[in-house]
Amino acid sequence: MDTKKEHIFIVRCGEVALKGMNKPYFERMLVERIKKLLKKFDGISVKRQEGLIFVRADGALNKQEIIHEISKVFGVASISPAVECESTMESIGEAAVKYMLEAIEERGIKTFKVEAKRADKNFPVKSPEIGRQIGAVVLKGCKVLKVDVHHPDCLLFVDVRHDKSYIYQDKIAGFGGLPLGTNGKGLSLLSGGIDSPVATWMMAKRGMMIEAIHFHSFPYTSQRAQEKVEDLASIVATYCGRFKMHVINLLPIQEQIVANCPEEETTILVRRFMMRIAQEIAKNTGCGMLITGENLGQVASQTAEALVVTDQSVSLPVMRPLIAMDKVDIMDKAQEIGTYETSIQPYEDCCTVFLPKHPVTKPKLDRILASESKLDCEKLIADAVASEEIVDIFPQ
Ligand code: ATP
Ligand code: MG
Repeated sequence: MDTKKEHIFIVRCGEVALKGMNKPYFERMLVERIKKLLKKFDGISVKRQEGLIFVRADGALNKQEIIHEISKVFGVASISPAVECESTMESIGEAAVKYMLEAIEERGIKTFKVEAKRADKNFPVKSPEIGRQIGAVVLKGCKVLKVDVHHPDCLLFVDVRHDKSYIYQDKIAGFGGLPLGTNGKGLSLLSGGIDSPVATWMMAKRGMMIEAIHFHSFPYTSQRAQEKVEDLASIVATYCGRFKMHVINLLPIQEQIVANCPEEETTILVRRFMMRIAQEIAKNTGCGMLITGENLGQVASQTAEALVVTDQSVSLPVMRPLIAMDKVDIMDKAQEIGTYETSIQPYEDCCTVFLPKHPVTKPKLDRILASESKLDCEKLIADAVASEEIVDIFPQ
């Protein structure tokens, strides 16, 4: 690679840096994730160096595209496109002037301030003095510029390291979180709604690998409704990588419930079956917990009482990362991660088939168990699990 024609990105690890003894492990995982996401480009190298990650890319590649990809990696706190130079005051000065002349041309900046940091404590000039001296060189080399220490148009960072030094301006925020694969695997109950893709994303952001399960009621729900869920899943996969989605027809169970149980209990009964089927699949696939997009008080089946009765259908822990969020905040998050527009497409969900007119909002476990005793639950669950189809979800 021609070093003059390469892009350099400094990637900061955020919370990963707080992990004490495990820090090297988390950093290695992060480097692996970044490499994986950038695999589609030729001419990329990703290396750990002195607590930072350096991504070098062939200069012919699109800088913005690379930044966009890196910013999707969980564990990345921020990214700075940077310029590299030798660690001498002369080289740093030259590189700073060149950098600022470009900034003047591209963005018409008029004021600046230098913020210097000396990671290499053997460097003969101390940080404040580096700032002053490089500031003076820039003033001399860029006549139109003035120093503004309070509100500069450009805050120029100079990071002096052992071998090389780096000059940059922007810190583009990543999502933070922890690298994928550092926190087990969860099975996410994925509907076509707004909530569950966000819930899945939030758990993946904490380092959890994802597998998904989706229930439909074909032919009451359409093929297109399932495709919508696959579209949503593949948006989520752009962050958490390829995953499997288990697809199950819930209609035989719904029909049994409708035929044998009180109408107002339909939804809660269906939800308990969903959880139990999910639990079986989770056990077969090494998923240690279930994930749902449930949210306290959102609908009848998500009142405090209903959530307790739902929880009591399974022994696996159920993660509900959205439990205390307001809907508007969930919607904002869905916009941010890119699932919102797909989620709001109007397709039917299996939950809306056989929707009771007056669903019970404070279900009692003993009554629900009495209703379930009229059904051969074990067989219904086993048949549902046996009928699963598996769809491979690839990043969009
Ligand atoms: P979302 O909550 O995703 O916006 P929704 O509002 O249609 O979709 P709810 O009725 O709120 O779904 O269901 C609560 C949770 O139950 C969902 O977040 C999801 O985890 C799970 N769930 C609902 N329907 C399905 C389904 N068809 N397949 C898999 N999981 C589902
Ligand atoms: Mg919901």
